[in-house]
Amino acid sequence: MANRKPTIVIVGAGFSGCMVAVHLLRQAQQALRVVLIDRDDAPGRGVAYRDQPECHLLNVRAEAMSAFPDQPDHFLDWLNNTYSPCHPVGVSEFLPRRIYGFYIESLLASARQATRRGVGLEFRSDEVLGLRQIEGGQMLLRLRSGGHLRADQLVLALGNPGPADPPLADPDFFRSPRYLGHAWTAPGLNAIRPDEDLLLVGSGLTALDWLAALQARGHRGRIHMLSRRGLLPQPHRPAAPQALSFNPLELPPRVLPLLRRLRAEAAAVQGRGGDWRAVVDALRPFTPALWQRLPPEEQRRFLRHVRPYWEIHRHRAAPRIVDRLHSLVRSGGLQLLAGRLLAFEEQADAVEALVRPRQQAGTLRLRVHRVVNCTGPESNYRRLNHPLIVGLRERGLIQPDSLGLGLLTTAQGALVASDGQASERIHTLGPARKGQLWETTAVPEIRVQAQALALRLLRLAGVDARSGTALRPDAPRLSV
Ligand SMILES: Cc1cc2nc3c(=O)[nH]c(=O)nc-3n(C[C@H](O)[C@H](O)[C@H](O)COP(=O)(O)OP(=O)(O)OC[C@H]3O[C@@H](n4cnc5c(N)ncnc54)[C@H](O)[C@@H]3O)c2cc1C
Repeated sequence: MANRKPTIVIVGAGFSGCMVAVHLLRQAQQALRVVLIDRDDAPGRGVAYRDQPECHLLNVRAEAMSAFPDQPDHFLDWLNNTYSPCHPVGVSEFLPRRIYGFYIESLLASARQATRRGVGLEFRSDEVLGLRQIEGGQMLLRLRSGGHLRADQLVLALGNPGPADPPLADPDFFRSPRYLGHAWTAPGLNAIRPDEDLLLVGSGLTALDWLAALQARGHRGRIHMLSRRGLLPQPHRPAAPQALSFNPLELPPRVLPLLRRLRAEAAAVQGRGGDWRAVVDALRPFTPALWQRLPPEEQRRFLRHVRPYWEIHRHRAAPRIVDRLHSLVRSGGLQLLAGRLLAFEEQADAVEALVRPRQQAGTLRLRVHRVVNCTGPESNYRRLNHPLIVGLRERGLIQPDSLGLGLLTTAQGALVASDGQASERIHTLGPARKGQLWETTAVPEIRVQAQALALRLLRLAGVDARSGTALRPDAPRLSV
């Protein structure tokens, strides 16, 4: 590598990949080539922030969305100084998600302009279909365009894969045009006529997004929203930050004692006029350590019994979105259902969904024109069938975790191969690390990982980093 610039390739230009690139460009003090690749044609958007209608809002207040852990007001400052200087944005606002895409894009542009000589970023709109290790430990990436790319270090910032189809004995209907299997793609929404009756499978944040978009388009047809338990994301409400009165890491490493203690804590906070949301938020910095000390059978217990309730309290929605949903239920435009999908029977002009209502005998038949899969991202890397993932699995370069939540990694995000060896060349961050960290899919966690990973990559690539670069992870707060 003596006369050649080290090359760090980042696959995926959503928030995770872009922030690794930003930190590499900011920190590198010696020649470095950074290549950012995404199948999308612009970096910075990712699944969450690309081409979103105005009504798709961030599910986090503006004040918590800085891309930099050590500059908490960075997003607000960018909004009020650069994006919208004439209309100041309040700290508590839930902004359209696409604005966040512009923010990431602008961070990348500024980092690109301020690099040291010899440090450069290339963006390629392409899809990585496979990779193999070649001489000198380098990796050779195979691209959909037909080209190849060499990397000394590789970051897989693959983010949120599309949802899996609901588990049905007969998957035939999933090939029908009446089925929209991937709710995050806009063409699906455009295909729907305003008077069509719809079944949204899932009642989480993706389903709420769809509902908001349908309402904004003046949808008149009846909408059914189905999930196993019929639970809805809780709305955000103002909740004064609250430190926990106990150290959760001192409780026995089991789900039940922790839940009991949290419930008691929430009740005490509410009794003092506070809000349970403050307790959920105060737990967040402890979550990775809590998760890691749970034995596997307790992690499974959590996933089986607690996860749906945890998700709706932890991943909350902008209040106006939830309020609109309830008014649609009241007006009869939306039916919320708890139950299990059994089958689809397609007819000439519609499709019937057969549903077993929760805790009831018998089968319910719902006649709709379209079915939209609004379940969350598929996180099980054993099931993902993208050629890149299949190839990595077959070559033993990745090891899906046993809970089906992501990939096995070291504490620094290095991929653990099927033989248990930690890679010195391939890293990941963000959603793929859920099995290890549990809390790793949102901006506040990813921004810390991206900064730490960039510094590690520079070290591994033998490139000096700016001196005095210190990491300041968000520290857990206790009032004990
Ligand atoms: C709909 C939605 C809304 C969200 N809203 C919020 C929010 O309000 N606040 C918050 O904090 N978090 C939110 N999140 C969480 C979100 O996971 C993170 O904020 C963040 O966007 C994750 O970024 P990422 O780069 O890891 O993943 P992604 O945004 O999924 O980006 C991954 C990128 O990798 C690319 N890619 C994948 N495979 C390949 C390949 N083989 N070749 C080339 N490119 C590839 C994809 O095209 C994609 O652009 C939301 C998530 C979703 C799905």
